[in-house]
Amino acid sequence: MDFTNKNVIITGGASGIGKAVTTGVVAGGGHAIIVDLNLEAAQNVCKELGEENATAYQANMGDSENIRTVFGKILEDFGQVHCLINNAGIVSTAPFDEVTQAEWDRVIAINLTGVYTAISVMYPAMKAAGYGRIVNVASVAAKRGGGLLGTSAYAASKAGVIGLTKAVAREGAPYGVACNGVCPSLTITPMTCHLGEEKMQKIISTIPMGRGAQPQEIANMILFYASDLSSFATGEISDVDGGVTMD
Ligand code: NAD
Repeated sequence: MDFTNKNVIITGGASGIGKAVTTGVVAGGGHAIIVDLNLEAAQNVCKELGEENATAYQANMGDSENIRTVFGKILEDFGQVHCLINNAGIVSTAPFDEVTQAEWDRVIAINLTGVYTAISVMYPAMKAAGYGRIVNVASVAAKRGGGLLGTSAYAASKAGVIGLTKAVAREGAPYGVACNGVCPSLTITPMTCHLGEEKMQKIISTIPMGRGAQPQEIANMILFYASDLSSFATGEISDVDGGVTMD
């Protein structure tokens, strides 16, 4: 997909789905701006892809003040950011009656408030430029109430991301700012690859295609929404899930 002359922020771009998106942006001729808690991993991805094609910044997407500082610096450094991919996230697997307040707050802070804060910094600049593509990574857990790996806090955070995506899409549309979401199901990344064989097979047995996704298969849809191929799509939430959600 063509990203010529596009600056694209990918949060969590150092691993898994985010790394596949980062690689796709660079392959399409764009400049990838990785924002990740793990700076060393982000810098290694930049080295792999060529430091003229990708830049790493460290931020904790669970810390709003930190996000405002780092995203403000990115705007200063790059002038214009064309696309924002909100991909960084953590999973929470505790049964509902074992979720602590601290766990709830942490998951909501990173998975939902972090997405809000990142958009809130970029949206005014995109609106002023008359161009912006925002893609938020949610999860099938948001629609199904968990059921695969993530449980209540995770499902609630990702359901919030879906509502936020549609609201930003509605308000941004007249200004050339599109906002879409992608809901993956089980994807084989560092987030899930530690699951034992038995747990993995149990999840896979519920997926009509009978397997987990490769990160690239999720990245393809994210890249589509980040690119101009999706020029008339906004407020859309796409399941890329091997058929596990059919609504
Ligand atoms: P991953 O663990 O492989 O990568 C996550 C990246 O985010 C890492 O680089 C990590 O350092 C970074 N990160 C984590 N916490 C951060 C923070 N507080 N601030 C900044 N960066 C942080 O995960 P993945 O499987 O590629 O997941 C990417 C997205 O896809 C997440 O939002 C996740 O919820 C969603 N998702 C994943 C699956 C799956 O099965 N893997 C399924 C549905 C949705």
